[in-house]
Amino acid sequence: MIIVLKPKTSKKEKEKVIKKIHSLGLKTMVSQGVERTIIGVIGEEDALRVQPLEAFPGVEKVIPVLAPYKLVSREFKPQNSVVKVKNVSIGAKQIVIMAGPCAIENLKTLRAIAKSVKESGATVLRGGAFKPRTSPYSFQGLGKEGLKMMRDVAEEYGLVSITEVIDPRDVDLLAKYVDILQVGARNMQNFNLLKELGKIKKPILLKRGMMSTIKEFLMSAEYILSEGNFNVILCERGIRTFENFTRNTLDINAVPAIKMLSHLPVIVDPSHATGKWELVTAVSKAAIAAGADGLIVEVHTHPEQAASDGEQSLKPLNFRNMVKEVAAIAKALKRKV
Ligand code: PEP
Ligand code: MN
Repeated sequence: MIIVLKPKTSKKEKEKVIKKIHSLGLKTMVSQGVERTIIGVIGEEDALRVQPLEAFPGVEKVIPVLAPYKLVSREFKPQNSVVKVKNVSIGAKQIVIMAGPCAIENLKTLRAIAKSVKESGATVLRGGAFKPRTSPYSFQGLGKEGLKMMRDVAEEYGLVSITEVIDPRDVDLLAKYVDILQVGARNMQNFNLLKELGKIKKPILLKRGMMSTIKEFLMSAEYILSEGNFNVILCERGIRTFENFTRNTLDINAVPAIKMLSHLPVIVDPSHATGKWELVTAVSKAAIAAGADGLIVEVHTHPEQAASDGEQSLKPLNFRNMVKEVAAIAKALKRKV
């Protein structure tokens, strides 16, 4: 349920409404717009149906939210959310390019990749230290050592850092070392992890599960927001279909669909969506044309030697060209890279 207050409602009137909601055992989230205040009600709303809030002075209307997700919905917050981290804004006019290796392998390689992606226009450095691998025998990542490398290299090149968290027990550790925490496709419905991430302030990049619907994706984001962290970026990274020439099928529909349903920024991962570096540039352009706010792309100086996902990693020169082509699309849409 969403409660819209009348413009110019006094603070006292607003607090009365909030107090009433709390007295019924429900939680509130307040969205303060320029003109209006919107109060989101979280919890079992039946209590409110018998005690109508319309009677309170200051309440303009009470809107039942039909969608099961509330705080992520456009109804709750009509204007786009912008997630700010250091000098980077995700969800604003500028298209944000995140790039780097699938996994952090060693300091030398990470530095070389960071240098090249920075020169090509990336502002965020990606790289996994804890890898969620399909096989327990595959490279699992460097762990804490990798986090330190990520922190040092991102700092050296003036990049914002992002890395994946796979275990709720690691949240505080990762938050110490990196700027954005990524939840991978395999953990989209790891609800205990999502709840922990809702308790911190750092931005969270939530990837869509490979077998999840848009509604399930938004419900997972709702877990994070409902704990108090509104700094959430959604990432479409392809879903499983009968097609197996590509690793996944990018659900391009999801980009405008999520923009319609939610105020959160949306980015696309063309690397995991295709599984083939040759397709990454074209799919990146399509994503930006469809309204995505950014891209997260795998880049490696020596893809043939990469510890994981070499077949979908762009070499630095191809990445540079990709950014140029994406910039042309962005310009046509009155955005920029
Ligand atoms: C990744 O970004 O390295 C990754 C594992 O992606 P996904 O969770 O989308 O498979
Ligand atoms: Mn990968």
